[in-house]
Amino acid sequence: MAFFQHLLPGIALLALLSWASASAHLHPPSQHGLSINDVPWHRREHWMRVANEATYADGEPCPQAPFGSAIVNTTSDELICVAANAVGRTGDPTMHGEMTAIRACHEVLSKRGLSPPEILRAWRDFSLYTNGEPCPMCMSAIRWAGFKEIVYGTSIETIAKGGRNQIYIPSSDILAKSYSMGHMTLMLGGILANETDPFFAHQFNESAPCPAGCQRKDTPGKRVSSCQPKPEWREIIQQREPEELLDSGRAYREPSPVNTFWPWQRLS
Ligand SMILES: [Zn+2]
Repeated sequence: MAFFQHLLPGIALLALLSWASASAHLHPPSQHGLSINDVPWHRREHWMRVANEATYADGEPCPQAPFGSAIVNTTSDELICVAANAVGRTGDPTMHGEMTAIRACHEVLSKRGLSPPEILRAWRDFSLYTNGEPCPMCMSAIRWAGFKEIVYGTSIETIAKGGRNQIYIPSSDILAKSYSMGHMTLMLGGILANETDPFFAHQFNESAPCPAGCQRKDTPGKRVSSCQPKPEWREIIQQREPEELLDSGRAYREPSPVNTFWPWQRLS
């Protein structure tokens, strides 16, 4: 009996760890085909693709920080803005893809003549699509804004496994701990992860394949190779569009001079 008594604290600790582990996975990846909030599944895939490819606007098919976001009116399916991580370009460490998109959309809404109170109300009708699960900073901003939905592709866990430094707090934890906000945010994870995961796999792993339009090359002065754009990457990506999408008018177009936040304007 004394032997088992000695084991009891260990068993209790194991039980606690297993409970904590289960809690961290309260929100499993979304199932293919789900139509929630009256949004058809194929539109979720469409907007995730737009978010995933937001970095193309900066001329970067294989960037070091491939985080892109698209903000969409959940009900009307209207794209408000698209933006990509701009930390390296600006030197502002808060310019993650989601934060850059929130600022870009704020400018779009201001230019449309919305007053600050109207802008604050507008976020509650919007879905934020992002190819990588939001970090604690971005998820907090998303909750402060009151977005109707947050939809992501690749999980923080997968991004970390790819060698990138992360703050190991799942966005579902931020969601759970912001219960007193007075507004709900639906979270869907793992959307189109088969297309978003490769964007995060190659930067720190020389054996990982490069995204479409990129090729692995040695860089002068560096000991490891990196994925770099092929000269014809734009043509490669345009050719990648399935026929039926081109037929439905979703072909790539040059960036709109009117709204610089729509990197690759698509007709939908
Ligand atoms: Zn972030």
